[in-house]
Amino acid sequence: MTHTAEYQRTEAGRSESRKTAAYAALSATTPIQPYEIERRAPRPSDVVIDILYCGVCHSDIHQARDEWGGSIFPMVPGHEIVGRVASVGSAVTKFKAGDMAGVGCMVDSCRVCENCRDGEEQYCNNPHATYTYNGRDQNGEVTYGGYSTSIVVDESYVLHIPDKLDPAGAAPLLCAGITTYSPLRHWNVGTGTKLGVMGLGGLGHMALKFGHAFGAHVVQFTTSRGKVADAKKLGANEVVISTDAAQMEEHAGTFDFILDTISAPHDVAGYLKLLKRDGVLCMVGAPDEPLSVPVFSLLGRRASLAGSGIGGIAETQEMLDFCAEHGIVSDIEMIPIQKINDAYARMLRNDVKYRFVIDIDSLRSESPRG
Ligand code: NAP
Ligand code: ZN
Ligand code: ZN
Repeated sequence: MTHTAEYQRTEAGRSESRKTAAYAALSATTPIQPYEIERRAPRPSDVVIDILYCGVCHSDIHQARDEWGGSIFPMVPGHEIVGRVASVGSAVTKFKAGDMAGVGCMVDSCRVCENCRDGEEQYCNNPHATYTYNGRDQNGEVTYGGYSTSIVVDESYVLHIPDKLDPAGAAPLLCAGITTYSPLRHWNVGTGTKLGVMGLGGLGHMALKFGHAFGAHVVQFTTSRGKVADAKKLGANEVVISTDAAQMEEHAGTFDFILDTISAPHDVAGYLKLLKRDGVLCMVGAPDEPLSVPVFSLLGRRASLAGSGIGGIAETQEMLDFCAEHGIVSDIEMIPIQKINDAYARMLRNDVKYRFVIDIDSLRSESPRG
């Protein structure tokens, strides 16, 4: 039975929940493996989405391995979700069956705190937004992400995927895209800005594309000599091998803004010295250990060390529309879900160009539920 048929039956009056094929981490040390979850029975404001593609974010690895602490197992990762709307609840006004839809890192928030009212739901402080997976919804139910065949989400947290965008290449925009777009916009990166991007992975390559599209002078920092030519193709004006002290020294005191997308513990001190007066180094990378910050690098140039988390729903839609207008999607390597553990291993070796995206049909064909 298809999910759509199952859902219509639910709409017809039966309040059963829906069994859904997925892949999960059962613990922090076990591989990602087949697992079955139950999606909630759709509410009037819910959109039911048959998932087509799900990007693989480094946050999936951090959480599946419990590197940040507090992980909830079994965990179905995945927060870069694109799929087709199967059906909508009676109160839904923004979506209809057949629409291409996206879901990013959050599926709900309190909607009444100052941050929610400002459209910055990612900073909901009541106590925080409901994350797409490894979270709990307002009923206390564990949330499950996009390594699955379908998802049920309140329409206020669902995005429209413009027709012009390739749906597989658009999936990573729901996290890697908005997480880099939002700080570049917030700190007004554009023509006349010297922008540095630390790390050329999923987030880094999107930062390069946006920095280039906004008209900044973009310098890519990488530890991978093999990525230099790609970085230039992706929009870098210059590429610096960050382990080469002489190359780093050439840029001392010159950057307006540096975006740090590095996933592992690293030394920020060498980068703070590259900021000019009033420069900002913004963390989006989320290593599992605290950084050591030499304060003289900050006070010697009135510099700021900042952080930024994903982006609000309205800004995510703005970013998707910007991408459609400017022909921007992620550079992806499509994988069947059965290769997810290899993909994690390759990401940990910095071997991804530049985002793995799971073809969820590979899960449908393995599951008797289809
Ligand atoms: P990714 O695709 O694995 O890329 C990370 C890149 O960091 C690597 O390609 C590598 O670039 C560089 N790197 C890795 N280890 C390094 C080390 N030891 N020293 C120096 N550079 C190193 O990861 P991603 O999906 O882009 O995610 C990056 C980080 O952002 C993760 O920590 C993730 O959890 C976080 N994140 C945060 C948010 C947020 O809201 N703030 C949202 C999404 C993700 P080179 O090969 O170029 O050196
Ligand atoms: Zn992510
Ligand atoms: Zn809130």
